[in-house]
Amino acid sequence: MAKPKQKKAKTKLKAKTASTRAKTAVRKTAVKVKKAVKAKKAAKARKPVAKKSVTKKLVAKKAAASKAPAPIKGKLVYSFGDGKAEGRADMRELLGGKGANLAEMSNLGLPVPPGFTITTEVCTAYYDNGKKYPPALKGQVEAALATVEKLVGAKFGDSTMPLLVSVRSGARASMPGMMDTVLNLGLNDVTVEALARQSGNERFAWDSYRRFIQMYSDVVLGVGHEHFEEILEMHKEERGFNLDTDLKAEDWKEIVAAYKKMVEKELGKPFPQDVHDQLWGAIGAVFQSWMNQRAITYRALNNIPASWGTAVNVQAMVFGNMGDTSCTGVAFTRDPATGEKNYYGEYLINAQGEDVVAGIRTPQQLTKAARLKAGNDLPSMEESMPETFKQLVNVFQKLEKHYRDMQDIEFTVQQGKLWMLQTRSGKRTAKAAIKIAVDMVKEKLISQAEAVDRIDPASLDQLLHPTPDPKAPRKVIAKGLAASPGAASGKVVFQADEAEQMASKGEAVILCRVETSPEDIHGMHAAKGILTARGGTTSHAAVVARGMGRPCVSGAGGIRIDYAANKMTAGDITVNKGDVITIDGSTGEVILGLMPMIEPQLSGDFGLLMSWADKLRKLKVRTNAETPADAETAVRFGCEGIGLCRTEHMFFDADRITAVREMILSDNVEGRRKALAKILPMQRNDFVQLFKIMAGRPVTIRLLDPPLHEFLPKTDADFEAVAKGTGLSVAALKERKKALEETNPMLGHRGCRLGITYPEIYEMQARAIFEAAVEVTQGGGKPVEPEVMIPLVATKAEIDFMKKRVDAVAQAVFKEKGKKVKYLVGTMIELPRAALRAAEIAETAEFFSFGTNDLTQTTLGISRDDSALFMEDYLKAGIFDRDPFVSIDQAGVGELVKIAAERGRSSRKDLKLGICGEHGGDPSSVRFCHKAGLDYVSCSPYRVPIARLAAAQAAISEEKASEA
Ligand code: PEP
Ligand code: MG
Repeated sequence: MAKPKQKKAKTKLKAKTASTRAKTAVRKTAVKVKKAVKAKKAAKARKPVAKKSVTKKLVAKKAAASKAPAPIKGKLVYSFGDGKAEGRADMRELLGGKGANLAEMSNLGLPVPPGFTITTEVCTAYYDNGKKYPPALKGQVEAALATVEKLVGAKFGDSTMPLLVSVRSGARASMPGMMDTVLNLGLNDVTVEALARQSGNERFAWDSYRRFIQMYSDVVLGVGHEHFEEILEMHKEERGFNLDTDLKAEDWKEIVAAYKKMVEKELGKPFPQDVHDQLWGAIGAVFQSWMNQRAITYRALNNIPASWGTAVNVQAMVFGNMGDTSCTGVAFTRDPATGEKNYYGEYLINAQGEDVVAGIRTPQQLTKAARLKAGNDLPSMEESMPETFKQLVNVFQKLEKHYRDMQDIEFTVQQGKLWMLQTRSGKRTAKAAIKIAVDMVKEKLISQAEAVDRIDPASLDQLLHPTPDPKAPRKVIAKGLAASPGAASGKVVFQADEAEQMASKGEAVILCRVETSPEDIHGMHAAKGILTARGGTTSHAAVVARGMGRPCVSGAGGIRIDYAANKMTAGDITVNKGDVITIDGSTGEVILGLMPMIEPQLSGDFGLLMSWADKLRKLKVRTNAETPADAETAVRFGCEGIGLCRTEHMFFDADRITAVREMILSDNVEGRRKALAKILPMQRNDFVQLFKIMAGRPVTIRLLDPPLHEFLPKTDADFEAVAKGTGLSVAALKERKKALEETNPMLGHRGCRLGITYPEIYEMQARAIFEAAVEVTQGGGKPVEPEVMIPLVATKAEIDFMKKRVDAVAQAVFKEKGKKVKYLVGTMIELPRAALRAAEIAETAEFFSFGTNDLTQTTLGISRDDSALFMEDYLKAGIFDRDPFVSIDQAGVGELVKIAAERGRSSRKDLKLGICGEHGGDPSSVRFCHKAGLDYVSCSPYRVPIARLAAAQAAISEEKASEA
């Protein structure tokens, strides 16, 4: 049966001579144009236009549901700091992940800069009320700000001890880099002088001010960062500076003046000097960023509802850029790529947090061991700041013990003092997730059920896929960081949009970028793998790729990417757009051309975790297989039988297709029987092999299903071969082919309708099954109990008709061989009528298997072969949350499944129930099958482990619900 086709620089310039300056000017113009286009796009995303329609929809939806939204009252702002907090970790719905964890860390007595969180409810209310804040918000923010001032001993906007704050987003689910952040807020022409005096570091104060003007202008005022970069580059060029660190306080002062002038020119009004205006501007921008295009895309990809909203965290600033005893860093309490129990992370001396995440400077390792492994000469934090590093390790241990999970942490050291800025459960690869879960069970931190429950079943896909054959020659053209494991081959593309376009045409692509940014998210998702020339293992590319399960090599410094020329070079090798490369995210290698891949080994921690899952689950997991190779793979992956053997797939082999065609094109029973006699021994041998591989496990064999015309001869040579076998003329055969053609074959002469018109076909297949079962059982193999399945049944009369004939063949074979085997005759439920009339069908059928591919097609009236033409539009319009051919439509098709299960079992208590449509390997459909009381799911071999895990999680959720 045809399957549904758903499967689908910042340039550091140093111009020393006139000629290089000229070249620079040309390059700058090109960069400028591109940046201007990008800025325009970004501004567009920021403008209310795009948001308006979504917001309008949200508002309309809400209004329709509840007429006018009631204004929210009560507590809108939650304070934290100084060893206590008003919030807790379990309040993430209200405070967002970041806010809830900042509160929790404060409660744990960890050093957290004081601050407050404006709740997600305010965000929702803001959008529900035409972007107006609840009236109570202003007073609550002012009170919380006063508390921060008291704790820090500084005052917002003060001319001697000014308080500076950061303003960050923080949704319920982590959305890395998708929304906006403003740092150093509270600086103006007066407070900058105070900061210089107070810190004794004039350069630091003015550097902070220029950073703030740039960030605030970009995020809040819509003045693109390219304007600022240009001013900075010009200044550096004029003074002959190479690095930002070459600039002195006087330079930054001049740059600040130029920035302010440019902003005033762009906006027609000066950069805001009132710190309260700055604060409300930044709060508004964070709420606005909830509806920016990249956040919308990220939510769509990760099934995050728009109604959740984001919180806003306002927190006293601490500075990682206050000289060489200051730093900023990100850390994982275990290795997020491998799961090893090593502290893993990076830090940058004299820098602010955003520098690490953005990958602007390549950071240094946290530990000495990691530095030695990376062959880096620059000292690790363990070596450069041993005392602070010890404190950090204490915090890691405390947090892991408290949260009972691997943590992803952001910290800043300000002049030797450690401050915690964030903790959350770290994103990790599937391999790391399994190792961490298994290790934590061994460390008695979590139970086996918790370990099983923590693994995303769909993520197992990463482990089940092949890696480049180590024995095959490989032409490594560059090496970067092993940022996200797995390997992928594909055509090189340099732009996210191109990656998306080519992938939509079914092409495998590798997205190659200098570095990625949140705007590239759609291209990263569409690509098979991601390669960046810059950035560490915590850069945007690395973090996002790991979350998505895409292989990624980051920071491949040997690669030069030339976007304008659509090419990249590695030494003397040039790779053009469209050339094929392979990236190995487990080794960091970039390889020229396509690589042969090898199968994964699934043992060790994986095997152990799956054995715990198997103990917990109630649903059995079978596989859909008809070839010995597929059946063997499925057994390796732990299948408990075959739930669907599509016999028509066995008919296409070169050695039998002519006999099959002879059978179809014969216009009388004798002719068909003659051809069937040729097919019988081959078909029997197929079943013998499958029964042997399955070694006593149940095997469901479906009798011929698809329209016969799928097998008809196409070429003259095909016709001549059939003419020879049948004795009919080519002209007569062509006539017969015409007569068999159908307008709508999906609803035509297929399934049991074939068996009713040509019972001899099904009789031959039944004979092959029983003869094979007897042969394997008599040969000393484990007793075989075949399950003979009749497809596309709509009525009891059809299954009665077929069962009578199958039983007769069974009796005949048992008599001839002098040996009986147990067997069942059942049906697929893939038509709504069959589901509705399940009670009477089950009087005859001894098992049901839900063919949800056809059941979806026939229930929704959407052709499984043509749905791809418009499915995307349905998903974008929100008409379907998920493609119903991928994840079962629980409300509609699911209801039919439940009805059929209930009615079927009302007339046959022990009716065996399974599912064999594609949904059998989709985690949420598996959970549905558990709830619907099915006995097993059946899926393609590579999805067997996914189904085993999803089935265990379904049982765990049920257990949790019953305990609650
Ligand atoms: C189904 O319809 O769900 C099924 C398993 O059968 P096929 O995909 O072969 O039509
Ligand atoms: Mg079907």
